[in-house]
Amino acid sequence: MKITKAAVLITAMLLAAMVMPLWAFGQTDGTDWDALQEKYRQDDTVQDLIFVKYEGNAKATLYLYEKDEENNWEETLCCPAYTGSNGIDKEREGDRRTPTGDFPITHAFGIQEDPGSQMEYLKVNSNHYWCGDEEHYNQLIDISKDWHRCRGEHLIDYTKQYAYAMNIGYNTEGTYGKGSAIFLHCFGYCEYTLGCVSVAEENMIKLLQRCGEGTRICIYKE
Ligand SMILES: [Zn+2]
Repeated sequence: MKITKAAVLITAMLLAAMVMPLWAFGQTDGTDWDALQEKYRQDDTVQDLIFVKYEGNAKATLYLYEKDEENNWEETLCCPAYTGSNGIDKEREGDRRTPTGDFPITHAFGIQEDPGSQMEYLKVNSNHYWCGDEEHYNQLIDISKDWHRCRGEHLIDYTKQYAYAMNIGYNTEGTYGKGSAIFLHCFGYCEYTLGCVSVAEENMIKLLQRCGEGTRICIYKE
């Protein structure tokens, strides 16, 4: 068979036409993590990125990237993480989903002693609640100062989960029913959560030591 240059070219074009839609589909289906890194690379207010890449069945992988002197990202942690038992794309309180999006970290706290947190760390006592009541929805409350019969989460009761924790800045406006107490915290007795992100305690300590006001946590499908 005589193969001409034109035949080779036509075959190449046909192959490209077949492969292109698949390639394009792959690009739009997954999250563009590179674009997120690029967005924050030149932003001096952001020093660290936590990527939570959701894989399905309440499982994710958490990555920590720290910015170096040349504004490049260096991966310093990669560990298993869990989400709400129903995955991501939270819509409302009680849906057992973790919020999808790009959030700040607003608080560092825990039942254990401060492990050397970058942010101001609150050592939890029996007066601390994360309020779920309409009046102070999604706010940290000290009932010795702001007394009410709080039906929110009594933080000190979650010995394992809140040994060390950080608040993810979801629903900071406090829209009632949209979801509250969305934390990055340690594994509990089961690994998946009610809508938070959980990691092993040793990894939570590393995150507290490094992350703070200059951190964004991005939670998306992998
Ligand atoms: Zn309350």
